[in-house]
Amino acid sequence: MLPPMAMVCSTGEPERKGMSARRVIIVGAGLGGLAAALHLRARGFQVTVLEKNPTVGGKLNRIVADGFSFDTGASLVTLPDILRATFAVAGARLEEHLTLQPLDPICRYRWPDGAQLDLSSDVSKTVAQLRCLAPQDEAAFFRFLSYGAELYTATAPVFLFNDFRDWRNLWRQLDRRLLRQLPRLVTLQTVADRTAKFFTSPYLRQLFNRYATYNGSSPYRAQATFCLIPYVEFAFGAWYVVGGLYRIAESLLHVAQAQGIGIHTNTPVAEIVVADGQARGVRLADGHVLPADVVVSNADPLYTYAKLLPGVRRRAYSDERLARIEPSCSGFILLLGTARKFDALAHHNIFFSSDYPAEFADIFDRLLPPADPTIYVCATSRTDPTQAPPGSENLFVMVNAPAVCDAYDWDDVAPNYRNHVMARLEAAGLTGLAESIVFEDRLTPKRFATWFNAHRGAIYGLSSNNLHNAFWRPPIRAREVRNLYFVGGGTHPGGGIPLVLLSGKIAAAAIAADTGQI
Ligand SMILES: Cc1cc2nc3c(=O)[nH]c(=O)nc-3n(C[C@H](O)[C@H](O)[C@H](O)COP(=O)(O)OP(=O)(O)OC[C@H]3O[C@@H](n4cnc5c(N)ncnc54)[C@H](O)[C@@H]3O)c2cc1C
Repeated sequence: MLPPMAMVCSTGEPERKGMSARRVIIVGAGLGGLAAALHLRARGFQVTVLEKNPTVGGKLNRIVADGFSFDTGASLVTLPDILRATFAVAGARLEEHLTLQPLDPICRYRWPDGAQLDLSSDVSKTVAQLRCLAPQDEAAFFRFLSYGAELYTATAPVFLFNDFRDWRNLWRQLDRRLLRQLPRLVTLQTVADRTAKFFTSPYLRQLFNRYATYNGSSPYRAQATFCLIPYVEFAFGAWYVVGGLYRIAESLLHVAQAQGIGIHTNTPVAEIVVADGQARGVRLADGHVLPADVVVSNADPLYTYAKLLPGVRRRAYSDERLARIEPSCSGFILLLGTARKFDALAHHNIFFSSDYPAEFADIFDRLLPPADPTIYVCATSRTDPTQAPPGSENLFVMVNAPAVCDAYDWDDVAPNYRNHVMARLEAAGLTGLAESIVFEDRLTPKRFATWFNAHRGAIYGLSSNNLHNAFWRPPIRAREVRNLYFVGGGTHPGGGIPLVLLSGKIAAAAIAADTGQI
């Protein structure tokens, strides 16, 4: 019996006939937690999700104010079939809940010297643009996409769709020809090394280097395997969800409720209860203990070890070890409601910095907000009139920023940095932006840390800046505690909407195998 909660989204329905009543508690209702809940429920588990915040969705969240609506996290859906499959596991159809809209252009790129390129998933349009900006690299563009396709085909079944540390399972499932290709494709080169081999144009090098930031990493340190990301965007599309991406979290909540999954918001978990090396349930912040056969943490694994597993932490993740693990980057974000339109903007826009290596050195080496930042501006109001009042824009302005460190407090640096970013945007052509603002809010790495218990405010869990972090994240099956599992961006296969959804699927399969409930 659950104690009274501030808000109970669903009380759960009685177990279906013939199904096991093994109880699973999931800590956190981010997308990884919601996906795990749906997959576990489909396998007959009794599932309860406990979320500390008033709303579900975790980093995929929303702020609505003064007629403006802002997605505060993800703005782009890739690999939509993974989202589709998450609905399907509960017998639901994505199209009944969400309208996915392809974007054309996918993104408008601008450089400090005035150069511009609209990247379109219509390859003929992109090629027409390339012929103006970097005609010498037209053939290289196609070779680069083929290279990405090869990488994706060989690595996705190993590193995305399966738990590659579960060798026996992997060996059963995999096409041996793919495994034989891996050594040829996996190199010690970085993303930037590879883009420099393919392209002579500095514009295209910077453009394709940027994809390393899709998992919060630096192109100058992340492994070249991530060159598969541009291919994925071209091959499977770049999608917006009409009404805002938060609709994904809302819809998964409704589907989960319909499946009888108990989802309790405003319910922070204070501790995962462990006895004899086995997870036995959770203790809530109000002191109540809820027993469970299996506990799944969708909270960041590093936060989970530091705060929710006091007895286990010292052995598994000492303070020194936690300090050595490099988080992904975080973000400094301005949410700006404007009283006028900015017709130069597309839905997604990038204003590149003039010195990309220096920018990533600021973020990952000096741990400083970049002096010369690349600025991402998402204006969903350009394509979706529901997101801002008529004649207005809802601008989500984001700069990649370092994770929280001890050297300074974001509350102190944010006001000046905000002015710096605004001045850059005005100089880049958004003249009159400052005077047009009628609503403003801001998100900092510190706010991400407290809002979602994200370790040091990282938005994609660990960085993929070294091979160990990229491929050896805290595993889905906790090593130190039986019946404890992780889902979400901090574990395998990593951050981003499709990957955290896959973590939920992989974890459910592991739990089913471990409990004999296949
Ligand atoms: C600014 C930004 C931009 C992004 N852009 C994109 C994009 O364009 N495309 C894309 O695919 N991805 C993007 N991402 C990444 C994507 O949004 C995340 O990887 C994904 O949503 C994270 O899901 P998760 O399962 O890891 O859970 P999280 O979102 O981390 O959720 C974990 C949940 O656990 C809860 N929790 C933590 N501790 C406790 C506790 N003690 N008790 C109870 N509950 C607890 C938290 O409140 C939270 O709700 C972006 C993220 C951000 C922040």
